[in-house]
Amino acid sequence: MNNIIRCAARGVFAAKDGARSVILAAGGGVPCLCCGRPAYRLPVCGSCLRVQLHPELPQKNRCRLCGRELLSEDGLCMECRRAPVFSAVTRAFSLFPYVFWYRELLYAWKTHGERGLSGVFARELYRLFRAEEALHCGPDVLPVVPVPPRPGKLRMHGWDQVHDLAHALECRWGAAVHHMLKRTGGAQQKTQNRAERLSRLSGAYTLCKKRVPSAVPQAVILLDDIMTTGATLESCARELKTAGVETVYAVAVAAVP
Ligand SMILES: [Zn+2]
Ligand SMILES: [Zn+2]
Repeated sequence: MNNIIRCAARGVFAAKDGARSVILAAGGGVPCLCCGRPAYRLPVCGSCLRVQLHPELPQKNRCRLCGRELLSEDGLCMECRRAPVFSAVTRAFSLFPYVFWYRELLYAWKTHGERGLSGVFARELYRLFRAEEALHCGPDVLPVVPVPPRPGKLRMHGWDQVHDLAHALECRWGAAVHHMLKRTGGAQQKTQNRAERLSRLSGAYTLCKKRVPSAVPQAVILLDDIMTTGATLESCARELKTAGVETVYAVAVAAVP
């Protein structure tokens, strides 16, 4: 995506943001982040919720390593052919591309506390788990291991989006959830490239030994909100493998293309 498109998209969203606050003040809902029609309760309208946030499953035409949409390639995307970030992760999946209004939506969820979206995303994740053969075993989806938040985040903000997803998957759909990992610190990732991230992240996640189940699952779903380079997921997967997990599938709500 070139810069002109990016700037234009930002302009549209900035204008929508302005309109959102005016309409909110009038108590008449907010413009849907996707189509601009009035939305209530969530920052997307009912129709976009049913159509745009309800992807066709199982997914077709995806890279069989990172799960990103393929353009003209076959099997593996260019990035995974050139310098694959995943070796401990067997395969990654994501629901949405982290672009345009999806990006705004994720921002509203993570930063503006639109917590109602946790349930929407959890429902779609569960559909993905059921639709992709690798992610379930008979009637049960594979055990879920959430990527842990930064230390103190739950205490400071009262909630964490990945924690919310895991909780919904456990309570509403009966998924087994193991909080087997903890985060020991580590820098914010925003300005680091793939190689820098991987090296800085090694050691940022460790096993939470007292939470490793006595019967270590053979295969798990490692769950995160946004997959940027995949370095976080890879770093977590390496830790899970040291606990004896054989296969780690990574699943994110959205992936940076
Ligand atoms: Zn809409
Ligand atoms: Zn790939």
